[in-house]
Amino acid sequence: MIKAPRGTFDVLPEEAARRELLESHAKRILEAAGYTRIETPAFEHTELFARGVGEATDIVQKEMYSFEDGAGRSLTLRPEGTAPVCRAYIEHGMHKLAQPVKLWYLSSFFRAEAPQKGRYREFWQVGAEAIGSAEPETDAELIVLLAELLDAVSVKGVRLHLSSLGDPETRAEYREELKGYLRAHEQSLSHDVRERIELNPLRAFDSSDPRTREVLEDAPKLLDRLTPEDAEHFATVRALLDDAGIGYHVDPTLVRGLDYYTRTLFEFRSDALGAQSGVAGGGRYDRLIEQLDGPPTPGTGWAAGVERMLLAAGDLPVSPNLIDLYVAIAHPESSPRAFQLAREARRAGLRAQLELTGRSLKGQLRHADRLGARYVAIVGQDSSTSLKEMDSGEERELSANDVIPTILRGSRLA
Ligand code: ATP
Ligand code: MG
Repeated sequence: MIKAPRGTFDVLPEEAARRELLESHAKRILEAAGYTRIETPAFEHTELFARGVGEATDIVQKEMYSFEDGAGRSLTLRPEGTAPVCRAYIEHGMHKLAQPVKLWYLSSFFRAEAPQKGRYREFWQVGAEAIGSAEPETDAELIVLLAELLDAVSVKGVRLHLSSLGDPETRAEYREELKGYLRAHEQSLSHDVRERIELNPLRAFDSSDPRTREVLEDAPKLLDRLTPEDAEHFATVRALLDDAGIGYHVDPTLVRGLDYYTRTLFEFRSDALGAQSGVAGGGRYDRLIEQLDGPPTPGTGWAAGVERMLLAAGDLPVSPNLIDLYVAIAHPESSPRAFQLAREARRAGLRAQLELTGRSLKGQLRHADRLGARYVAIVGQDSSTSLKEMDSGEERELSANDVIPTILRGSRLA
């Protein structure tokens, strides 16, 4: 038996309904704030992610699905959405539009990771990007919109971790300072962290090793090194969140996997998720567009994991897909008329299903009942059609032309 590849999943109808509900909330919340939808290709030139996500990141180091096309160019299944959206912004000259350009997406992404609950090799994200504004209001507004989405989907146990990374120059100086500190405490660090002191010392803050964590408690913090401008930007974001009543935890150890962030950085985690606690993350990326050969353009955005949101959401009010009319075939010869009736009913706006398996009439009525049909039209020989209202059990002979108007009027048959 052929099964779905490890780390992938099928979305079966019941789950599809939950995902659709999530999508409708995302659309409503983001479009009300002026975000419009964008779709980018499922694969891009590998170089986009190498440059746009950063060579030193986990994603580029070990999580990309890359392959060669026929012409020997390296392509990669998209592992994230920000670099592709920025690529599209540059490619389509969106800097000429009114700024900021506000875009949202709901797409699947691919990462070669060890599959476990909440961690898949193909997964979905809702994302939002505001490109062309450096103002702290943009960051705060994006965080507020994300909080609203998590709330609308009833994601449980949400905590917002917030920090600022300052600008790349401050960060470069700080990296040297941190490297020095880590080297001085090398003997107490986990193997992984020691290995990455040179390549990515900031990731030491992500370590779960107890001794490493102890060392890092007293490590110098980037938040204490911000320039006055960056510190003020961060203070404004915090003040706007305070005014909006959004609780957060200033977390100087917050280091997210992507290299392109500047200034604001945040992550929503959920207690309901266990080890894979990250529900959504984002931040400002003022140097990214330039790094991808576009004009210097600030940007900020976030991405939220669809599966993790739904895992942490519990029950959602998903309404069953009821049907208005079941068209039963009482006699083989009445099949063409039944076919027409189902089609006309749908054109009139009704949810109508036709008998498709040749059940007995009794079997058809039982099936219609199980589906929750409000009415069953029993299409007989000659031109007779009898319409049965399922909850009252009332039944009446009608001429063919009266079936649909009767249902649309919703009048009782008795
Ligand atoms: P993690 O620390 O769990 O690996 P991340 O920092 O790699 O997460 P991001 O790149 O910021 O995650 O992606 C944003 C969101 O996408 C995450 O908060 C999470 O909800 C979701 N996500 C990331 N990787 C996966 C995955 N492999 N499977 C399912 N969801 C994922
Ligand atoms: Mg990850």
